[in-house]
Amino acid sequence: MQVHNFNAGPSMLPNEVLYKASKALIDFDGLGMSILEISHRSEAFLQVMAEARQLVRELLQLDEDFEVLFLHGGASTQFMQVPYNLLDAGETAGYLDTGVWANRALKEARLFGNVEVVASSADRNYCYIPKSFTVPKHLKYLHITTNNTIYGTQWHQIPEVEVPLVADMSSDIFSRRLDFNKFALIYAGAQKNMGPAGVTLVVVRKSILGKVSRLIPTMLDYRVHIQHESIYNTPPVFAVYISMLTLRWLKEQGGVDAIEKRNEAKAALLYREIDENPLFRGTADPADRSRMNVCFVMNDPSLEKEFLEFCKKEDIVGIKGHRLVGGFRASIYNAMPIESVEYLVESMRYFARTHG
Ligand code: PLP
Repeated sequence: MQVHNFNAGPSMLPNEVLYKASKALIDFDGLGMSILEISHRSEAFLQVMAEARQLVRELLQLDEDFEVLFLHGGASTQFMQVPYNLLDAGETAGYLDTGVWANRALKEARLFGNVEVVASSADRNYCYIPKSFTVPKHLKYLHITTNNTIYGTQWHQIPEVEVPLVADMSSDIFSRRLDFNKFALIYAGAQKNMGPAGVTLVVVRKSILGKVSRLIPTMLDYRVHIQHESIYNTPPVFAVYISMLTLRWLKEQGGVDAIEKRNEAKAALLYREIDENPLFRGTADPADRSRMNVCFVMNDPSLEKEFLEFCKKEDIVGIKGHRLVGGFRASIYNAMPIESVEYLVESMRYFARTHG
């Protein structure tokens, strides 16, 4: 039995990826050993790491100055590792405050230097993306969370800035076309659009490194990981392997261009239903709606529990909203087929017909 999995992360992966990964658990690459048992310095794994890094480069169309790293610690470690490497004491970094994750990032940066909140949407519980703000030129970098997983908002227009741009793309990396070369550093936990939990993607422009005066502990120094081609210590081998398989899958689907069209179609379908169905309404401002995390509530909150139970019976899982927003959140990342979104829409219609 397979359910319709709308979890926000970890979230669903393509079936063919899971199938190949399950085979590798028993016998990897005909070696007579599980992938969990091979050396991270074996030729077989070196190839996996090299292919994964190359696929990221290719899919994001990165220029030569970028390095691609697969690190430990989740996106949350990047909240600290970014300022550790980029922000000296006394210097100022700018942060766009668009929700919980942006806040966690800026809180960590305050441990290293000054933080200026350039714009915030806290006044309306982060249901929109700030529009007019000025980015001071003295900032060491500007940090943006391109998709706000909890609130279902997304930057559809990346701000044009003259300072280095750092992005947390944990919940929309590889989902849409962007000029990724405009960024100085991009990071993303794998567990939404790239693979399982346990590995974090970092894409960094080499030229921005080496400019802080503090000493950086070895494991937190991006330059160490660059020098060792992302195998300074034992990497999360299985998580990197599954990420590589997912990136291969994405390439076979036609890459970021093709997946973007599918993601747009899925999001349009679901938002249309939310707007037309008298029982539901969206929580994010329409112009800033996320194409990855669709957040909505019921006009009559007393029906929410019943709708959730109904979904469970219909094998629709993972749509309970985050407690800070309430209601529902359907996460429709790259691996989610449109058929599951159609199924959810049909279920919402049925519920409306029987509860109208
Ligand atoms: N940033 C964003 C946008 C997220 O959605 C999340 C988790 O959902 C995180 C950061 C934290 O990621 P991790 O659990 O990998 O530290």
